[in-house]
Amino acid sequence: MPSLLITNIGALVTGDLKNPLRQADSIYIENGTIREIGKGLSRKADRMIDAQGITAIPGLVDSHSHPSIGEYTPAQNSLSWITNYMHGGVTALISAGELHLPGLPLPPDARTALSLAIVTKRCYDNLRPSGVKVFAGTLLLVPGLTEKDFDEIAAAGIRLVKFIFYDYSLLPNGEAERYVRWARSRGIKVKIHSGGVSRSGVSQVAGFEIVSKIQPDIIGHITGGPIPMPEEEMIRIVAERDYCVEICSSGNYRMALSLIRAVKAKNAYHRVLIGTDTPGGTGIIPRGMLREIAFLSSVAEVKPDIAVCMATGNVGRAHGLDIGLLEEGHPADLVLLHKITGSVAKDALDSFAKGDLPGISMVIIDGEIRVAGRSQQTPPPERVASQK
Ligand SMILES: [Zn+2]
Repeated sequence: MPSLLITNIGALVTGDLKNPLRQADSIYIENGTIREIGKGLSRKADRMIDAQGITAIPGLVDSHSHPSIGEYTPAQNSLSWITNYMHGGVTALISAGELHLPGLPLPPDARTALSLAIVTKRCYDNLRPSGVKVFAGTLLLVPGLTEKDFDEIAAAGIRLVKFIFYDYSLLPNGEAERYVRWARSRGIKVKIHSGGVSRSGVSQVAGFEIVSKIQPDIIGHITGGPIPMPEEEMIRIVAERDYCVEICSSGNYRMALSLIRAVKAKNAYHRVLIGTDTPGGTGIIPRGMLREIAFLSSVAEVKPDIAVCMATGNVGRAHGLDIGLLEEGHPADLVLLHKITGSVAKDALDSFAKGDLPGISMVIIDGEIRVAGRSQQTPPPERVASQK
């Protein structure tokens, strides 16, 4: 794979909350990995990119997506959505379950849920649409799974399981607790559908009490997907628990503002993950992640570099995946972007702060240039990175 040197970067967002903005203007990439970040790097590389002073951020990681079959989404009977998301800066998608498969009985029985997870995982292991990393095969937890099933998903490389259809009246029998234990002991993260019933009509309602019993790693769409739990329960989860919490485009905007107030009070920025919860009834939103960052930056007044971390490094860390960081030794997944002509913003981060969408010039995944010049999904940025 050709090496790549990017120079003349304006702002560089790392995706790491501990040090979100790095004083550097160059990135050197070799074999798909970031080898060096610094000022004025002048190493020889097979390909050279002049960023023309625009901003670099890690590739966006959608914390909550619903892939089904390749780039086809049965939810809206549409094709090519993953490539379109990539043009919106998304370089990785984390599946919250492949529950849109046409004809899938809902809730699935244990054998069906397990088979679906394994088949989907194997398929996306073999298929990276436009280079996008699709972390699929998320096991939908239903009664009747065995510890052997958890061995099987662990062996297949599945790293996430999800409570959504599980009948919580069964909690006293201890099965759900065992699932969480079996997952944890295999390095698998546990997510829960929170709030009211979703489009399927058969997801289970979960608020403070249920999530406190399950003790998941991540509360899916805590601000609604589309219906949130009661506001006071959401605030109690931030204040009294330490789970990661997702804000999704499918949710309730008033609750997103309330969540951020609670997060600020607790200084719990590291626990916030941004996702879209699409494709689904909310639609297909290629610019969804960018819009969510802009909303949190401008309306909820989260610093834009911190909001970017919520859509990148925070998501990778919460899911135990090596994605979302612009740092040495990590995969070279990144986006070069800038203000759009006519925007009053100064640059990409200022665009977010002012609530404007930035324009994408370049998307790189594993060191490979996937979008060059300009994105097909954002308006063109005022300046674009050039290849030499
Ligand atoms: Zn969902």
